[in-house]
This record gives sequence, structure tokens and C-alpha cells, in this order.
Amino acid sequence: MDVVKHVCKLLEHGVVAIFGPTSTEGAVTTRSLCNIHNVPHIDTRSDFSIDTDSNGSISFAPQPKHVSHVVKEIIKEYRWSKIAILYHEEEGLGRVKEILPMSVVEDIDMTFFPIGRNYKSVLKKLKNSGQKNVLIDCRREICIKLIDKMLELQMLRAYYRYLFLSMDVHLPVYENYSGDDVNMTILHLTNRSSSYYKNITKEWKKRTDGSELMSESALMIDAVHVVVNGVITMEETLLPVTLKCGEPHNRWHQGARLTQEILDSQYDRGLTGPMDFDDQMNRLQPRIFVSELYHEDMEQIGYWSVYSEKHLTLNPTSAIDMSNSNTANRTYIVATITETPYVMLKKVQSGVEFENNNDRYEGYCVDLLKLLAQRINFNYELNPIKSRIYGTDNGKGEWDGLIGELMNKKADLAVAPLTITYDREQVVDFSKPFMFLGITILYRVPEPQNPGVFSFLSPLAFDVWLYVVIAYLLVALSLFLLARFSPYEWYNSHPCNPEYDEVENQFSFFNCLWFSFGGLMQQGSEINPRSFSTRVLSGFWWFFSLILISSYTANLAAFLTVERMVSPIQSADDLAKQTTIEYGTLAGGSSETFFRNSKIDTYKAMWEYMSEKPGVLTVDYKEGIDRVLASNKYAFLMESTTAEYTVSQHCNNLTLIGGLLNSRGYGVGTPLGSPLRDEITKVILQLQEEDILLQLKKKWWKTDKCVQEHKNKEDANELDLSNIGGIFLVLLAGLIVGLITAVCEFVWKSRQNAEIDRKSLCGEMMAEMRFACRCNRKRRMSKTIDQSTYIPAPMYHRPSVNGNAMPLADTVA
Ligand code: GLU
Repeated sequence: MDVVKHVCKLLEHGVVAIFGPTSTEGAVTTRSLCNIHNVPHIDTRSDFSIDTDSNGSISFAPQPKHVSHVVKEIIKEYRWSKIAILYHEEEGLGRVKEILPMSVVEDIDMTFFPIGRNYKSVLKKLKNSGQKNVLIDCRREICIKLIDKMLELQMLRAYYRYLFLSMDVHLPVYENYSGDDVNMTILHLTNRSSSYYKNITKEWKKRTDGSELMSESALMIDAVHVVVNGVITMEETLLPVTLKCGEPHNRWHQGARLTQEILDSQYDRGLTGPMDFDDQMNRLQPRIFVSELYHEDMEQIGYWSVYSEKHLTLNPTSAIDMSNSNTANRTYIVATITETPYVMLKKVQSGVEFENNNDRYEGYCVDLLKLLAQRINFNYELNPIKSRIYGTDNGKGEWDGLIGELMNKKADLAVAPLTITYDREQVVDFSKPFMFLGITILYRVPEPQNPGVFSFLSPLAFDVWLYVVIAYLLVALSLFLLARFSPYEWYNSHPCNPEYDEVENQFSFFNCLWFSFGGLMQQGSEINPRSFSTRVLSGFWWFFSLILISSYTANLAAFLTVERMVSPIQSADDLAKQTTIEYGTLAGGSSETFFRNSKIDTYKAMWEYMSEKPGVLTVDYKEGIDRVLASNKYAFLMESTTAEYTVSQHCNNLTLIGGLLNSRGYGVGTPLGSPLRDEITKVILQLQEEDILLQLKKKWWKTDKCVQEHKNKEDANELDLSNIGGIFLVLLAGLIVGLITAVCEFVWKSRQNAEIDRKSLCGEMMAEMRFACRCNRKRRMSKTIDQSTYIPAPMYHRPSVNGNAMPLADTVA
């Protein structure tokens, strides 16, 4: 073994102390040999591994337990409630074991990621877990390799906060990756802000071609000073001897004394703090410094010491609270999806060069992003994703599409027609919505239909026709009854013959039907009501007929001139109930998720159909729209904002069916915990209040053309009860008034007759009632009946004066 050979050579040479080496294995071997031969062993390793046990060595680095203390304090300061711990599989959790109780005491959620041989795979796991506070416990060399892989996997981003347990992990990172927005907390043993350190490093850099002075080298410098002090103290008495390697009795008799002199040397000017040691030959007053690498700056934010009052002392201005970080002038990766009219490639002639990639796109979201960048003051790089998927969960907590980009921190923002949903909100952050919408049905405009031979029935709805027939029969019946009960409706059919004692009633049931029908058709008839009650009823009926016929005529004109467009589906229910028209939605979007998770029967049924029928889900909106345009056998369920835009582009061919099936909003997505979210929300609210979002919508949704075309195509609608129900009420009122009048007439006449006949009113009324109820329309005249009121109607007994028919006007009482 090289180390053994090397140490033996030194011992044989005659040395007063052996320093190092820096590898764990080498140090342990050297320590054993030095112990055997009683030669002081100086251990200056700054990397703490579980086997570090200073027993027998003078150890200059702080002990692992001290590092654990610092880390615990930092975790508390950062208020981390979730930590991902990356530790090296071979070394185990030895270095972080003191931190583990925090999961119970401080209620911190810890997830462990063992680092095996494949660094990338562990980092991918970490990335997919969505964890952002990462504690890395491994040797410095491994840390450096991990950082290389992090760079590859785009994990050196602002959302992660790394805390390394090894010393000086910052140095290579700082040199190589200072351009990235990386948050790293680094421990080191030197006070980098002290002038002593600065002087020494100046010299160090000169002698080492500009390399940084690392903790281990600083420990070595300190150790050399201390050992030299010890040696000087012993002066001439010190006598190094040649020692035969591996022979236990071959010990240096001055070794113990020199060790003691080294431990007592009290060197205060160490680069790593005061050099005093305890009985175990460990540093008595170790100090550990904490620095943060944030964006491009390395800042020493404080230090930890066993003896300081508050062990971890941080600068008040330290950059610890990353959430308040300044976004100014940063370049963000903005993921998006090319979707008309939100993000579209500009149409330009070939050969035109754009200044930068962002200029190649235009649309609502592009304008919105520009405004956000201007007001928040950041730069961005627009990055439309190739998969063109918005994002769905695969059931294992992994998301694809835009949501996946945000979760995996490949993008800092997602500006697209990205719907805010509960599930998505669990894994990414959304700003307040900048647009509101819902799912609607896009369908082909139905073919115009020519009015058919029975189109004269169309102006009135079926139920209106039905009610008209019922009203007609009811009025005829009421007229018949009123006429029988009203004494004024009975007349003497032979007025010239005063002896003639038979009276007649012109309102037989058939005559009532005919009279009502004549009224309805606005033709009249020769029959005319005589009593007030029948006249009231007739008046109302004529009024009813007038309004009904006028409405019918007006609407008929519209029906005969307009080509009607009747769609076979009027709503989502219609769609769900039928099978001839196929329907589907976009795969991998929130609409699909809406149907999949819906608890409403109609939508559940629709999802069953869509999930079972192959090919109805589309890859993008364009495919769905093209299918609707191609035939009326496919309906596409899409978001209303995009649907409105699409209809405006194809007014003659496309239309929206039914209302909105749900209500949602589009928001700007950011990774969880991103400080940008609140800033974006503020700006969106500002833009809303300043009506700028409205103007943007107007700019990209040019719907005026369609409104004009639709105006020209105003459709005729059949009249239903809601339009003309009032006239039925008026007619009902007429019926009631007629009835009341008839009762009054009946009572009035009965009273008069009772007086003449000297009968009781009741008796007279009963007699009249019986009389009215007889089926025949002629009856024997009571002596009390006033002959003058009984002038025969022309209908039944046309009286003739000198053989001529009596003029109609004269027949009316
Ligand atoms: N805007 C939707 C989303 O964010 C995509 C379109 C859709 O599902 O209809 O998922």
C-alpha cells in the first residue's frame, strides 16, 4: 500500500510529526502507524466522514457533531418544513444522524435519497418529488460531480435551495456556474471577510497560479504554525530518530512531549480561528462560517461557534429569505403552447430574420407576457413545448406537458391558455385568472330547411294550438250554458202573435260551436247574442281571436320567408342521449379531466362514451375543429374562449350549442413557491382594472364580422305560451265575468217573475232552472215573459214582415 510505504519511509528518515494525508483511508492508516511509533499525527482533513475519530491524532477540523449543530441552526433559521436529504449510500446517514430527531422535535418532513453510483437517477427522483430544500451529505468530490449533473438536469435553478455538509463546495460552483440562479448554502472554515484571510489568499493565489485557498489548506497552514510553535518550544532538546516501521517496541521517546507542546501552544492567529485543544486533541473553539451563493453573488452571511451566545450569528442583511428575492433583470424560461389566438408563429415572408426568438411569436398571451415583463422588470425566453400538452397527472403524481415543465423546474413560468384546476394547484402555483371561460360544444351550423307544406302550423307552438282548441270548445260550451240560463236569451219566435206562448233559444250547442268558430276566424255569423252575459263572453272571445290571429299572421310571414336552421342537438343532454353524432374533447387537457372526474350523470355518460370510443379525443384543438368543419357527424367539446374565436373565423359553418358546462379561468403558472406568482397576480389585477386585458381580447378576438352576418340571418321562432299566454288569461277572465253576469241576470229576472207570479223567489228560480235544463230549445212561454224581449232570431224562425226578411239590425233587442 502506497500510504504505508510512504509513512514508513518518513519514519525511517526520522521525523518529528506527520501531516495528513487528506484521504480518509490514508489518514486512518497513517494515524495507526504514528500511534505505534509514538510520533504525533496531524489530521487536517476538513471533510467529515463517519469514521473520523481523532483518537491518536491532533485534529484541526471541527468535529462532525459541530457541523450537525450548524446545519440544525441553519434549518431552523430557514424555517424549512420539508427537507430532501441526499446522502451517500456507502457512508450512510452517519453525518446527518444528529439532524434526524428534528423530524419529530421540529415536525420536519424528511425524505431520503441515497446516492448510489448513478448520480443522475437520484437527482431525477429528487426533481420529480417536487422537493426544493435539499440537504446534501457526501464528500466534496461527490458533491462536485452531483453539481455537474444538476447543471445537466437544469436543477441549478432558483427554486432549489441546497445546503452542503461538506466544506468549500462553493468554490468550483462559484467559478463554473456563477451565471445560474442557484441558491446554495455553503460551509467553510475561514473567515473570508477578514483582512488576515484576504492578505494570505493574495499571497496564496500568487504562489498557486490563482487557485482559491480552501478550508483544508487553511487548516494545514494553521497546523504548520502550531506544530512549529511546539517544536520551537522544545528547541535543542528535540531529537528526531530513525524508526523501523511496524516494530511496536520501536517508539520515539519524545513523541508524547512534543504532542503536549503542540496542544499547549495557544496559537490565536489561525486562519480557522484560535488554536486550542481539549483532552481528546480536538479543537476547543471551532468556528464554521456560512456563505450563500445566490444568483451571481457569494455572500458570507454569518458564522457558528460553540462559545458564541447565539451559536449561529447571521448578518441582518443576509439573503436568507429567498422568497423575497428580487426578480429584476432576470431571464426566465417561459413555457407555452402554440394555440391560436394566444400564441401563434408570425406569418412572414421567408428570409426575414428575427432579432430574437421571442419576436417570432404573436398573440394574446405573447402580449400579456410582454406587459408582465415590462411591469415586473424581467427578461424572458419564450419556449413553446413540443408535446403541446397542457398537463395531466399519470396517477403517480407525475405530470406531463406545461405542468410537468413547471414541476420539473424546466420553466419558470407558463403563459398559455392554461386552466386553473384544483389538482394542478397542488403541484404548481397559479396567478389570479386573466380570462374566464367554460366548456362549450362546437358544432356545424345546421343545413337550412325550406318551409314544408305544413309550415302554416309552425308560427304557433304545438301546445299553443292545443290550448286554442281547448279554449274554443270551452267558450262554445260556456256560451251554450250561459244562453240557456240567461232569461234574456229566450225570445218569442212569433212576435206578431201575442197568443203564441212558445219561446226559443238560438244558442243550440251546434250554433255555439259555429258562432265561436266564426269569431275565431274573424268571419262572424248570423247568430248574435242577446243577453249581457253572452255578449260579454263573445266580446272577450273576439278579443282573444283578434290577438291570436294577428300574432299568427305576423309570425307566419317570418316563417315563410326565413329558411329555418334546426340543429339536431341543442344541449349536452341531447348529445349524451344520442349516438349518431360523435363527440370528443382535447386529450391531455383540463376538459378531459373535467369529464373524467365529473359526478354529474350527463357528463359521466359523456366521459364513458369518449373513453370507450376510439379516436374521438383529439391531439390538439385544430384537429377537433377540422373534424367539426368536415362533417355534421362530430361535435367538439372545447373551451368557450377559443370556441368563440373559432366561430368568428367560420361564421357560416360553425356555431356554439347550449351554454357553458362549467366555469373556469386561465392563469399564469409558476413552480411551487415561486416569488413571481404574487407579482404576476398584482400586475394582472392592474391590467384588469385598466381595461388593458379587455382591449387585448378585442384585439385578438375579432367577432364583429360574425355579429353582422348573424344579424342578417335572424331566425323565426314559433310563438309559445310564454309569448301569447296572456290572451288565454284574458279569455278566462271573460268567461268568469260572463258567468257572473249570467247569474245576476238569472236572479234578477227570477225576482221580477216571482213578484208577478206571486211565488217565492226560490220557487221561481227552481222553476226557471228546470225550464233551462230541459233539452229542447223551445219552451212554453211563462205569462210573465216580456213579449218585447223575445224577438225571433233570423236563424230559426225568420219572421217576415210582408214576406221580407227582417233586417239584422232590427232583430237585435
Ligand atoms: N386550457 C386547457 C388546459 O389547460 C386545455 C384545453 C382543454 O382542455 O380544452 O388544460
